[in-house]
Amino acid sequence: MNQIRSPKGVQIRSPRGVRDILPAETARWRRFEEDFSACCKQAGYGELRSPMFEELEVFLRLGEETEVVSKEMYDFLDKDGRHMALRPEMTASAARAFIQHSPVLPWKIYYYGPQFRSERPQAGRYRQFSQAGIEVFGVSDPYLDVEVIALGWQFLGSLGLKQLTLQVNSLGDTASRNNYSEQLGRYLAQRAGELSEASQETAQVNPLRVLDSKRDQDQAVIAGAPSCLDFLEVSAAAHFEAVCNGLEKLRIPYQVNPRLVRGLDYYTHTAFEYVSQALKSAQNALGGGGHYDGLVEALGGKPVPGVGFALGVDRIFLACDSEQVFISEQSPVEIFVVDIVGGGEALSLTQQLREAGISCDRAWESRSLKAQMKIADRSGAKFALIIGSNEQAANVVALKDLRSGEVPQEDIPRDEIVLALKDRLAMEISN
Ligand code: AMP
Repeated sequence: MNQIRSPKGVQIRSPRGVRDILPAETARWRRFEEDFSACCKQAGYGELRSPMFEELEVFLRLGEETEVVSKEMYDFLDKDGRHMALRPEMTASAARAFIQHSPVLPWKIYYYGPQFRSERPQAGRYRQFSQAGIEVFGVSDPYLDVEVIALGWQFLGSLGLKQLTLQVNSLGDTASRNNYSEQLGRYLAQRAGELSEASQETAQVNPLRVLDSKRDQDQAVIAGAPSCLDFLEVSAAAHFEAVCNGLEKLRIPYQVNPRLVRGLDYYTHTAFEYVSQALKSAQNALGGGGHYDGLVEALGGKPVPGVGFALGVDRIFLACDSEQVFISEQSPVEIFVVDIVGGGEALSLTQQLREAGISCDRAWESRSLKAQMKIADRSGAKFALIIGSNEQAANVVALKDLRSGEVPQEDIPRDEIVLALKDRLAMEISN
């Protein structure tokens, strides 16, 4: 095949950190999306489709010093000079849509689609990746946090993943969180010399984010850090206890991880992550989420709480490959039409079959019978319909079972072909 070449003769490829997903793989992506959608609808969630870019301002409200916002945003000025950004995640867009449309509470939504972050590409970390997630606005009930966690857990399990753990934590309400952040800042300042340069900088602006560091050099300091659970105010501790009780009620196994802080700044109370043991630690988070109190207000709305999660679809497929589950292949067509009288018969017959709801394909360029039969075999179709000059003269088509050489070929009158095929295909299903 001809490859596109730039003027200098270098082959043009997709940009760094983004990928083509080819037909052999898209079948699995489509099934994932359908299964996720069914799982959410069953629990009363409706789909939100928001734009892929927003005014930059929407994402700045996530916290200007969060890495996603400060370093990884694909932002640009549009032709009218407005500052826009490709969405790096969906919660901010969902909160913006919530404020804009004032829906009835609670607003339970799910979404699926690409996100964009200018990160250093590596296995399981891309510049365009897909997330599937849910958000609920307008209710602050620890059992709702549990419903959300359980939905993601149940869905990941339904894909066949077994090497999964659920980690949960609570940062408490704003007072608990601020108090802890201050104490942690002091602790990190004392041990600053042992931290990586990047974490020393982060510690100055947002101590909590240091706990998120995956750098080896930071691990000893992180391990010795005070636990945020020791700083929970009474009501925040009660909220977290109810979440843990709810998980136990549903028999969902979990680990409390007091070092779990999510990348974005707006989380209060519950934070959680689904972690795969089948992947290396730098990419083993399949998704995560939490409860947030301040985001809607930060975007100009009323102080409305929210809770949600985002699953990383690309990562989930890496885990599925590693565990050898959720393998879905492109389904082949049912019928392959072989026309050796010029190609016009195949043109009308494939059209007729498709209109009747029968999937079919054909060969091109008037190839020989042998060449077309080879393509038919490769297509994975169950039956071939062959039209040669004898069949054309007798106004019939020859039906050949492609999977069994023993079944004799059979002539079927042209005007009975749709009914005959439907019978044959129905028999296949009932067998
Ligand atoms: P976050 O919005 O950062 O909490 O991410 C939620 C999930 O999205 C993570 O647990 C990952 O599975 C996935 N994810 C985040 N960033 C990337 C990326 N650059 N490439 C692939 N997946 C990602």
